Amino acid sequence: MFIKPIQKPAKLLQYEALSRRLADSHPKKEEIVARYHSERSGFKGEESMGYYLNSHELEQWKIFHNIKLHDGSSTFQIDFLLVSPTLISILEIKNISGKLRFEPDLQQVIWTNKQGIVKILPDFVIQVNTQKRKLAHWLRKNKYPNISIAPLVIITNPRCLLEVPDHCKKHSSLSAIIRNSLFPSKFSNLIESHNDLLLKKLQLNKLTKHILREDVSSGEDVLSKYAFSLTDLHTGFYCRKCENFSNEKRRQSWRCIICGQTITTQEPLLQALRDYKYLFNHTISNQQFRWFTNSSSRADAYYLLKSLNLPTTGAKKSTTYDLTDL
Ligand SMILES: [Zn+2]
Repeated sequence: MFIKPIQKPAKLLQYEALSRRLADSHPKKEEIVARYHSERSGFKGEESMGYYLNSHELEQWKIFHNIKLHDGSSTFQIDFLLVSPTLISILEIKNISGKLRFEPDLQQVIWTNKQGIVKILPDFVIQVNTQKRKLAHWLRKNKYPNISIAPLVIITNPRCLLEVPDHCKKHSSLSAIIRNSLFPSKFSNLIESHNDLLLKKLQLNKLTKHILREDVSSGEDVLSKYAFSLTDLHTGFYCRKCENFSNEKRRQSWRCIICGQTITTQEPLLQALRDYKYLFNHTISNQQFRWFTNSSSRADAYYLLKSLNLPTTGAKKSTTYDLTDL
């Protein structure tokens, strides 16, 4: 069962908001949009694993999506962490299109994308083994019993062509790389070969809570590494149809002043507040809202914010609205 379900990671949401809001003329725009597409594709691969991980066979397992822990010297991120009393498994998900050529003897993977551009990627098995080592260290440091950790690299794109040069075909590390369709049988084999009950029920429950408590995956701030200024960002209400920040509130609806589309849901308002949350803060004041949405009227801003029944703190002009659950 999922203890931490599959959800869009904070990093993806931040890149999504930033790729929408960063001005097209900004020199980093292309880089940000590319990062967003890569994060989004990675998440799609992780999402597709839900089908296998929700299976009846894994009901007794504690499953965590996107966990980031600190091992004392640095953080390490795990796409899926699976915990049972007999075994722990780490799944590293690769949702890549094109062709992957594995060269474990040279600790590299050569990726040829659909456009034919060749890139050298670090060896996936070394990457997942590093996570394994750091997790083992974290468990030791927190005085948990010594339990086996089985790392797997899972290729989720069925159209990705996998290639191994003849002289590497017997390389032991390649057995850790599988396509997602093989996951159920591979995992069954792993379960069968680990029978010793190493974690007692109490320890397992303690570990589950411990992992959730120390998970820092939502505290990432990818924005601070790009020194953007406020003037680099588009403000206003976004129109999905024409991709401009040109929606205006009407009495019962929203209307785009560029493409004319009218919508009756609160989506432009929610979208603006979510963008603000991922780019700046989990709370917003009336003044901040007016700046971010190009609204001139304090009363109109008050009416819009109040319509969502958000939790608030402070009173009158110092009221802030809590965006956490949006
Ligand atoms: Zn429009």
